[in-house]
Amino acid sequence: MDRPRVVVIGLDSVTPELLFERFRPQLPRLSKWLDRSAHGVLKSCDPPITVPAWAVMFTGMDAGSLGLYGFRNRRPGTYFQMLAPTPSGLPYPPIWDTLSRSGRRVCVVGVPPGYPPPTVNGIYVSDLLTPPGAADFVTPSSMAEEVERVSGGYIFDVTFRSDERARVGEEIATMTRRRWTLARHLFAKEPWDLFVVHEIGTDRLHHAFWKYFDPAHPRYDPDPRFANVASDYYRLLDEEVGAFLEGVPDDVTVFVVSDHGSQSMQGAICINEWLAREGFLSYRSGTAPGTPLESAGVDWSRTRVWGAGGYYARLQANVVGREASGIVAPEAVEALLDEVVHGLRKLRTPGGAPIEIEVARPSEVYDEVRGVPPDLLVYFDDLRWRSAGTVGHPTLFLDENDTGPDDAVHSWDGLLAAGGPGITARGRLGASHIRDVAPTILSVLGVAPPRTMRSTPISALLGRHRSGRIGP
Ligand SMILES: [Zn+2]
Repeated sequence: MDRPRVVVIGLDSVTPELLFERFRPQLPRLSKWLDRSAHGVLKSCDPPITVPAWAVMFTGMDAGSLGLYGFRNRRPGTYFQMLAPTPSGLPYPPIWDTLSRSGRRVCVVGVPPGYPPPTVNGIYVSDLLTPPGAADFVTPSSMAEEVERVSGGYIFDVTFRSDERARVGEEIATMTRRRWTLARHLFAKEPWDLFVVHEIGTDRLHHAFWKYFDPAHPRYDPDPRFANVASDYYRLLDEEVGAFLEGVPDDVTVFVVSDHGSQSMQGAICINEWLAREGFLSYRSGTAPGTPLESAGVDWSRTRVWGAGGYYARLQANVVGREASGIVAPEAVEALLDEVVHGLRKLRTPGGAPIEIEVARPSEVYDEVRGVPPDLLVYFDDLRWRSAGTVGHPTLFLDENDTGPDDAVHSWDGLLAAGGPGITARGRLGASHIRDVAPTILSVLGVAPPRTMRSTPISALLGRHRSGRIGP
C-alpha cells in the first residue's frame, strides 16, 4: 500500500450548523463530500480564539502549555506591552515539525501562528499575522515570486471591522479565490504527505455580516444589499474548496475542521468600567469614552485588578513582586479573584437579565502554564457578550464592539469532518476535542507523536484498532 497522505482544510470559525445544515443545500460539492464523511462537533479550547486554537489543534497541547492566551500575549514584566506569537516561539512542535523530522514532506498554507514562516521539509506560506508588505512570507523564500504570480497577489487578511461593508465583502471573496488558486497550484505541483490550508475568510465574513443573515441577531438588519453576502460567500467556498476536493485522489484522507464556532454578538461588557465602579481599579483623572486602558492614566497604587477586552475578559491582579507597581500580596490573589467573580455574578443586562459568568483558572485548566497567563479567564453568557477593555464609557454595556463594527462573537463548537481510507466512521459523530486532532492525523499517517504530546487520537473516527497511542 502506498504511504498514507492527509489533507486538512481549516475553515476558521465555521459552525456545524452553518456547514452541515443551513448552507449545505447550496453547496453541492462540499455536500457530496460530507455525504461520504464522518462529521460532528469539534469542541474548542480555553480560550476559543483563533491563534491559540489552531496551535492547540496542530500541536495536541493545551493553550497554557503553549503560552497562548489570545491573538497577542503580555510581555513579561510589563502591564500593557503585547507580543504577537510566532511559530518559532511554540514550546511544543506542530505536526509539520514532527513530520519534517521523520522525512515526510508537508505543504502548509496560512495556519496561525505562521509568521515568520517556519522552515519545514516542504513549503509554508505565512498566516493572517503577516505584516503588510512583508517579503518573508513563504519558506523556502525562493517561492515568493511564484506565490504572488500564481495567486494574482496573495492576500493574508482583510480589515473587516469597518463600516465599508461592501468593500469588506468583496475583499473577503477576492482573498479566498486567490488563496485556493494558490492551494490548487501547490497541490498539483508539489510532492507532499500532509497538505494543510487555512481559510480566514469565513471568520471575517461572520464578523462583518452575521447581523444580515441571522434573524435572531439583536440588531438583525435585512438590508437587501447584504442579505445574500453570506450565502454567496459560502457558494464561492463550495466552488473553490469543492474544486480542490475534487482534485484529491481517493487514497488521501481528508479532514475539514474549524477552530471554534460563531454566534451573534449581544454586545460588549466594559470590564474595566465595572472594575473601577466596584473599587478594584482607579484612574488618576477622568477619561474620554472609548479610551484604551493604557492611555487612561491608571493609578497603580490603588488598582488591584485590571482586565483586557476580546472574546473573553482576561483579568490580571496587580501583584507585589510580579507587576512593577504591584499592591496585592501573592497569597491574597485567590480571595481577590473570588471577590471579583462574586461581584460579576450580580451583573444584569440593561434588560435586567442575569449574565452567566464562567471562569477558568489557568492552574486548573492547563497541564502547564507558560508565558504570562491571565490570572482568570472570564466568559460572559457562553461567549455571547464580548469584553470591552476601553474605559470612560457612561454605561457598562455597549451595543457595539469597542474596537470597530462587529456582528459576531465566537462559540465553543467548531466542526470536524473526515473521510478517506484512514477513517472508518461515517455519518454524524459525537463531539471531539480540538486537542485530539494532531494525534489523529499522525495516527493516520503512521507517524509516532512526540513523547510530550498528551492528547490521544479520536477513536470514533479511526475505529478501535487505531485508537490510543501508537508506538515509537
Ligand atoms: Zn478563528
